[in-house]
Amino acid sequence: MMVIRSCAEMSALAEQQRLQGNKIALVPTMGYLHAGHLSLVKVARQKADWVVMSIYVNPTQFGPQEDFARYPRDFDRDLQLAESVGTDLIFAPTDIEMYPPPHLTQVVVDKVTAVLCGASRPTHFQGVTTVVSMLFNIVKPHIAIFGQKDAQQAVVIRRMVADLHYDIQIIVSPIVREPDGLAMSSRNRYLTATQRKNAPVLYRALQKAKARIEGGENDPSAVQEEIRRTLTSVDEMRIDYVQIVDGETLQPVEKLDKEQNILLAVAVFLGNTRLIDNAIVYT
Ligand code: AMP
Repeated sequence: MMVIRSCAEMSALAEQQRLQGNKIALVPTMGYLHAGHLSLVKVARQKADWVVMSIYVNPTQFGPQEDFARYPRDFDRDLQLAESVGTDLIFAPTDIEMYPPPHLTQVVVDKVTAVLCGASRPTHFQGVTTVVSMLFNIVKPHIAIFGQKDAQQAVVIRRMVADLHYDIQIIVSPIVREPDGLAMSSRNRYLTATQRKNAPVLYRALQKAKARIEGGENDPSAVQEEIRRTLTSVDEMRIDYVQIVDGETLQPVEKLDKEQNILLAVAVFLGNTRLIDNAIVYT
């Protein structure tokens, strides 16, 4: 497995692969890998000839009060894990490679970035779309794989790819969970033992809500209220949002019906740690 740090070198290697007729898959990550990330590589491996994983803790997607400086990093462990599932190349650029000064350009997707996580993290998605756009240009993938764990991110990236006419197939892969239901996340390591024990309440609340909707409940506010009650039964839990939205527009739904692609989305703070989770209903 190769490790590349320079954008120019990465770009040249990608060009070579394209000239050889190879199909390139990109799996963008911020490292500190877990089985969720590795599941994306496994999908990539099945669909492409050359699998590139980027490992880059992108500073521009963190707010000023957020955890950029203490975001967990373990590059050597990441290399072993990435190689174990058949990654061909790790692209791990430095900040100066990615954002050579003065760097004045941003990619902004409207509307779908203003709701849910975008409401409490106003600059987050702009950082994500800018860095993903740069990664697309450098790695030149035919396909890129993202996780359903970050449901809004997947919607935003699909929008960007359609709107900017990127010739890249976006694949969204299911959420990988711990045995007790907690969605895997690099941030789970911030949790204290008690918080970790309580964290699966997110999954339980979502599953209960999904079952209730599938059982015929059509009032979103009743379901949201029940999710809120379940979540706040846990110590140190503060809700950022609990929303039932259309899976594509991310706008709130008035009435729950089977014709719609419905997304149940939650974000909470458990102590100081922000956790997100979601469930899709009907599709
Ligand atoms: P991150 O390193 O958190 O930026 O995540 C990199 C990619 O892995 C994103 O597309 C995430 O949606 C995806 N991902 C993170 N956690 C999971 C998970 N538990 N299951 C599936 N995909 C995940």
